Amino acid sequence: PRAPEARRAWARIDLDALRANVAALRAKAPTAAFMAVVKADAYGHGMVPCARAALEAGAQWLGAATPEEALALRAAGLGGRMLCWLWTPGGPWQDCVEADIDVTVSARWALAEVADAARRANRPARVQLKIDAGLGRNGAQPAEWPDLVRAARQAERDGLITVTGVWAHFSCADEPGHPSIARELAVFRTAVAQAEDAGLEPEVRHIANSPGTLTLPEAHYDLVRPGVAMYGISPVPQTAGPEDFGLRPVMTLAARLASVKQVPGGHGVSYGHHYVTPGATTLALVPLGYADGVPRHASGAGPVLVAGKLRTVAGRVAMDQFVVDLGGDLASPGDEAVLFGPGDGGEPTAEDWARACGTIAYEIVTRIGARVPRVYA
Ligand code: PLP
Repeated sequence: PRAPEARRAWARIDLDALRANVAALRAKAPTAAFMAVVKADAYGHGMVPCARAALEAGAQWLGAATPEEALALRAAGLGGRMLCWLWTPGGPWQDCVEADIDVTVSARWALAEVADAARRANRPARVQLKIDAGLGRNGAQPAEWPDLVRAARQAERDGLITVTGVWAHFSCADEPGHPSIARELAVFRTAVAQAEDAGLEPEVRHIANSPGTLTLPEAHYDLVRPGVAMYGISPVPQTAGPEDFGLRPVMTLAARLASVKQVPGGHGVSYGHHYVTPGATTLALVPLGYADGVPRHASGAGPVLVAGKLRTVAGRVAMDQFVVDLGGDLASPGDEAVLFGPGDGGEPTAEDWARACGTIAYEIVTRIGARVPRVYA
């Protein structure tokens, strides 16, 4: 493989930072088990290396959205307990049963599918039941819950499943003090009690995502499921940065300038000429575009560290490249441009990009495309 410095662009993934973040999060919830949420290619950081690092740092569980992600983790040789939660009718449930992956069930028809898979696999499926405590996505409605837990208990008696968990997901835990938090905790508490009254003995009850892990001790239960915080991004950016929680951003996105040239004043830059040079200046070309996951919304707004100063994307972000105006400063082709990183070297952070693009830092890191090699350090 070519050395990182010879590459067009790369995302440096600091696995030491990830391991330290896992340790910091575990210290916040010392009595709970830790599920490292590594769905969506570990929020763009690379699923298998991040999952491995999280397990090394003490995570007992890995959390995936799709069953295919969980199966890919097993195929890569990863142990640990695993849960997936995105239901697809006709999904690879038998493979999950055979690979010791816990699957999430929110409805009786899904329970029937898993029971069928267990019959074919000739062993019980590990099932976690999900209640919709108020998010309005997956999960059984509270009115359907007693029926679901009874059916699950019967399937246990029939030797088809083992209910290993009961769980829910917050809607607004990233807004400290939001009234939905107490409401959803109350729904969850009732759901857990009803499951236990029906004779279920779930090994783990869980509801806490990153903000729940960091700000709501009463939500820790038996297990916490942080995602974004593990990657060093604050889940409550309105009120606190990652450093306030002892977290460090894991991804640095950088590129080498593909061209540096002098142009006169009045020179239009990129499609649509939304930027016109105010005077004679130096333009530098950064070889990253929306095909790499740099949002087109960053046109005229995204911050970049080039030649020791913060600059702004000049004109539109194109598919593979964008331009920055260096003013009177000097740079050479091959010099490094840093889009975002931990922020302590003067570079912007993913949160800065999120603000510039009207989105959340989750989206900034997760959308970095497959064309950008991840370099693990
Ligand atoms: N649990 C579930 C079910 C999720 O879907 C997610 C991600 O959205 C998480 C936990 C982790 O959330 P966060 O990244 O906010 O910690």
